[in-house]
Amino acid sequence: MDFNPCMKHKVVRQAVRDFAETEIAPVVYDLDREARFPWDIIEKMRPLNFFGLQVPKAYGGAEVDGISYAITIEELSRVSAAIGLCISVHNSVGAYPISAFGTAAQREKFLPALGRGERIGAFCLTEANAGSDAGGVETQAVREEDGFIINGTKIFVTNGGVCGLSLVFAVTPQEQGARGGSVFMVEKETPGFSVGEIEDLCGMRANPVSSLFFENCRVPLENLLGRVGDGMKIGLAALDTGRIGIAAQALGIAQGAFDASVKYAKERHQFKKPIAAFQTIQNYLADMATEIDAGRLLLYRACAFKDEGRPFGTEAAKAKLFCSRLASRVTNLAVQIHGGYGYSKEYDVERYFRDAKVTEIYEGTSEVQRVVIARGVLSQPR
Ligand SMILES: Cc1cc2nc3c(=O)[nH]c(=O)nc-3n(C[C@H](O)[C@H](O)[C@H](O)COP(=O)(O)OP(=O)(O)OC[C@H]3O[C@@H](n4cnc5c(N)ncnc54)[C@H](O)[C@@H]3O)c2cc1C
Repeated sequence: MDFNPCMKHKVVRQAVRDFAETEIAPVVYDLDREARFPWDIIEKMRPLNFFGLQVPKAYGGAEVDGISYAITIEELSRVSAAIGLCISVHNSVGAYPISAFGTAAQREKFLPALGRGERIGAFCLTEANAGSDAGGVETQAVREEDGFIINGTKIFVTNGGVCGLSLVFAVTPQEQGARGGSVFMVEKETPGFSVGEIEDLCGMRANPVSSLFFENCRVPLENLLGRVGDGMKIGLAALDTGRIGIAAQALGIAQGAFDASVKYAKERHQFKKPIAAFQTIQNYLADMATEIDAGRLLLYRACAFKDEGRPFGTEAAKAKLFCSRLASRVTNLAVQIHGGYGYSKEYDVERYFRDAKVTEIYEGTSEVQRVVIARGVLSQPR
């Protein structure tokens, strides 16, 4: 067991950190305040293959290993969790299911454009009455000659306002073997597809999370991903991969808040001493550092399992559960260390604090992660 990062992973971390600190950090405050999606930064990310991280090389992607992927999302999120979210969702629940479940023709049609970031991917499962319970999906796809007509509304879609291709979960009640729902790839030009208002969110404000509407939206038969009834299988596989991305995002938020806290604790003086000299502040920093290390180990283990081709769903859920909770605890302590300034938008920790919370909610709430973990634990022979 080697705990040292290899040269490849060191290079990936440094390259992404340099990009994030040079290109994103100077505007991250404005992006959050204005809830603005940064097209100019996206333009710079396209040729660097951020959008092709999980796209096979055969289709022009980077096809990076799991740990490189986690490091990339972590380092982006250390500076901007909203941009980390865009890249994570695009890759792990947008492009990956097409790589894993698409036909050769579907991969040929969609993956190159996704890999170049010409189309930004979105994953559309949640509805007003279907959140944790994916079985409650009411969006319907009805078969018609050589295609399906989709009707329904998806809510809280990450990248919704900018997506070029959305994976849409719908029920197909008229079809044989339709239990489990089905997944359709819907291009933004498709008549009947439209985007709702951008959500006014607590955090992740630079990501255009929105509702998506499908009104008599006709998709050709070749846009059905997998077979009719494969929806649950594809969704669960996508979420296993997605949870690695969200764990990495949560870790990056925590690391950013921790780094800011160490710097502040050394600079801020009270009682004629840097506050870092006080035992209580040291205890906070020690707890934060320990939790971040523990989260990183869990996360990289899940990535290693995935790279080795072993089942990794339970490991990904553990990493997501632990990292999202630690992100909330660490950012809470970061605000505390900054005192009143930590509660001001002038300081990054205020944004980290707001961004952290939702990592406990999307791609399966913490309560749902425990259901997944318990299922994995109970199914293991002892
Ligand atoms: C910023 C943001 C971005 C998002 N992006 C996407 C996206 O791109 N695509 C997408 O499809 N969705 C997305 N979502 C939706 C997100 O995945 C859901 O909000 C989440 O799955 C929870 O569903 P819900 O909000 O309906 O809560 P509910 O399912 O109503 O849950 C409410 C509470 O009940 C608990 N609960 C529910 N069922 C159980 C159970 N069986 N056992 C124990 N506790 C339970 C939950 O854990 C939670 O605490 C996004 C949400 C946000 C806020």
